[in-house]
Amino acid sequence: MAEATKKRKGTALLAVMDENCSSCAGSPLCEAHCPVDGCINLLYEEVPGAGLKPYRVFVDNDKCIGCQMCYSDDLTKIHQHKETGEIFYEYANRFYDSAKKPVEPDAMPKKIQLQLIGTESEDRLDKKICPWDAIKMYEFEDGLQMAEQFYDITKIKQVNGLYVVDNEEKARLEEKQKDLYY
Ligand code: SF4
Ligand code: SF4
Repeated sequence: MAEATKKRKGTALLAVMDENCSSCAGSPLCEAHCPVDGCINLLYEEVPGAGLKPYRVFVDNDKCIGCQMCYSDDLTKIHQHKETGEIFYEYANRFYDSAKKPVEPDAMPKKIQLQLIGTESEDRLDKKICPWDAIKMYEFEDGLQMAEQFYDITKIKQVNGLYVVDNEEKARLEEKQKDLYY
């Protein structure tokens, strides 16, 4: 358990998208904010006689670094210099050093030399990304349990390069989701 948490980059949080997700009509806003390729994925459902239609999104729990960038637009991003290990904070397009002193843009290393290692949120304005409040951040282990209510990556099929949940699995999950509220 501790091992899984230790291996993760960034914070020990996990994003979980719940039943309020509408898939943003097939253009997930949260996915556009996620810095990790293939982490937030559009999930399709089967429509009898009519092919596939966007259903929700699911998070690949192994890829999520818990950075919260899908969750809030009001974060301090923490970058690390890939070679020197130096830490820089970024908030509202301004940069700060590890002592939180401002760094002029031309004194900053190039973007390619930096890697995002996490974020900090002070919930200053609570600018949530999801218009439907379908994204919640959990401590990693709690998030794994919660995610089981909404998606099981081992039961998601790939059809012509698209992720698809079949009707049986969708019904199973929607039944499970009732446990959360009744
Ligand atoms: S922003 Fe919200 S509604 Fe849109 S795809 Fe992401 S979780 Fe779903
Ligand atoms: S917390 Fe970060 S890595 Fe995880 S899904 Fe959200 S944006 Fe992607």
